[in-house]
Amino acid sequence: MIAELKQNVDLVSVVESSGVELVQRGARHCGLCPFHSEKTASFFVFEDNHYKCFGCGEHGDVIDFVQKLYGLSFKDALKHLGIGQGRITPKVKQSIERRKRRAELVREFRDWEQRYCIYISDLWFQTKQLMIDGIPHEDLELYAFLFHMLPVWEYHRDILINGTDEEKCLLYQEVRKEKKVCKEEAQNGRKQFQFRTTA
Ligand SMILES: [Zn+2]
Repeated sequence: MIAELKQNVDLVSVVESSGVELVQRGARHCGLCPFHSEKTASFFVFEDNHYKCFGCGEHGDVIDFVQKLYGLSFKDALKHLGIGQGRITPKVKQSIERRKRRAELVREFRDWEQRYCIYISDLWFQTKQLMIDGIPHEDLELYAFLFHMLPVWEYHRDILINGTDEEKCLLYQEVRKEKKVCKEEAQNGRKQFQFRTTA
């Protein structure tokens, strides 16, 4: 019960409410370590609800965090987090909801990452094939968009394969924004060439 509860209590919220400012880097969060003095952030909160500082080596779960930070006993740490005899306070409930939502967003992002990589690789390959096969002169305009997109897809694929989580996140936001614009353009009657409509 406690193991389940502590896994569900959102560590990011607990760390932030202790006064540590966290910045999201892909699926992780990082900030200045509250356990040692530093100028560059080396304190990380990971997707699995654990933290680790690469500066001083401090690490653990949400109970370890409040125990060490506030010098509390295990029992008092549970009380501090609102976990007592399986009772969940509204604050903890909120924290659990936030954690679930965050996990959901990370899952969505990872899912997109995989799908988009396959999608653009496929488009890239099919467009290259078109170039090899040769297309009728009168259809050139129709395919111009694809040829124009080749280096863009190459760039995107490079980010997906070699980029950091932060770069991938930016790409995710950019692609989603573009997708929205494409949708609006399509609704406004503008022609949009696509091999397929997924991703
Ligand atoms: Zn540290």
